[in-house]
Amino acid sequence: MPIYEYRCKKCRESFEVIQKLNEDNKGLRCPKCEADEPERLLSAFCSGGQKGATGMGAGAHSSPGHS
Ligand SMILES: [Zn+2]
Repeated sequence: MPIYEYRCKKCRESFEVIQKLNEDNKGLRCPKCEADEPERLLSAFCSGGQKGATGMGAGAHSSPGHS
């Protein structure tokens, strides 16, 4: 079952929601401030500190094997 990550537009709180593919974010509320219509982020199956996993072109600070 996919896990979606949402972010509250109001307080910027991010939280994960397990839901079916054909479900939308209707009825979802921020667990912190209870604002509705949170913004859906990329689906996160592992909530690690991975940033830009596919950003090979934008080698800003992590360019492996460059020596
Ligand atoms: Zn909120």
